[in-house]
Amino acid sequence: MRLFDLKGKVAVVTGGNGGIGLGMAEGLAEAGAAVVLAGRDAEKARTAVGRIEALGARCRFVAADVTKREACQALVAEALAVFGRLDILVNNAGTSVRKMPQDFTEAEWHHVMDTNLTSAFLCAQAVYPAMKAAGGGKIINIGSMMSLFGAPYATPYAASKGGIVQMARALATAWAADNIQVNSVLPGWIDTDLTRRAREQVEGLHARVEARAPAGRWGVPADMAGVAVFLASAASDFVTGAAIPVDGGYSVA
Ligand code: NDP
Repeated sequence: MRLFDLKGKVAVVTGGNGGIGLGMAEGLAEAGAAVVLAGRDAEKARTAVGRIEALGARCRFVAADVTKREACQALVAEALAVFGRLDILVNNAGTSVRKMPQDFTEAEWHHVMDTNLTSAFLCAQAVYPAMKAAGGGKIINIGSMMSLFGAPYATPYAASKGGIVQMARALATAWAADNIQVNSVLPGWIDTDLTRRAREQVEGLHARVEARAPAGRWGVPADMAGVAVFLASAASDFVTGAAIPVDGGYSVA
């Protein structure tokens, strides 16, 4: 389908070396894009690059701590140097620290905010000149059910995930004239390293999610591939500033 065709396009996926980021990167690769995976763990990235290349796509891992402005700039410079263009940015890198609000240190607050929110802003700033010069682009921010709801153990996480959706809306209004669409995806509960830790720390979480989600199951990273292709392709050229839950119905139940 031409509408969803990403042949010739180049995507950067932060945290694309595992979990949801890799699920999205695989979708983009299957639709024809070349993919740059950014993260810190090179060992994990080796497997991820192998999986993308097995789909017939070109792929490169760039080691980057996306909480740092210089690293985001260098990531974009390397993507442009290797592949010659940059069409799609997926701001997926994220983390969580689970505690009651009164127990967080200031450092923990900043760690979660910097990883989940500041990184997305820095990467968006870094890709903007290339996207503007190319006549357009697609930015996809990864929110969460915590963009919509609260939870006792998730104060900085919820703040960052509410913020990333609002930031996408602001960027969407700023850059629409440059033909850059900026949207958010709100994953439900997806089985990844991050939520494996959550299930260890939050008693009864696994069963509660199964019971509440109308789909009756946890998501898997591959569930995120379709929305990534949609928001990265011409199929979504008139969609901007949207926040799309991909959650098996969790947020409407
Ligand atoms: P993972 O822990 O598997 O993935 C997180 C990724 O972020 C890792 O690949 C990690 O790479 C990368 N990362 C973290 N910090 C940095 C950093 N400073 N610089 C560069 N990369 C970094 O978890 P998920 O796949 O679950 O999470 C992906 C995104 O989806 C996150 O934003 C998360 O909040 C969000 N999300 C997840 C949900 C779920 O149920 N799993 C639900 C809703 C949202 P490395 O280790 O190499 O640094």
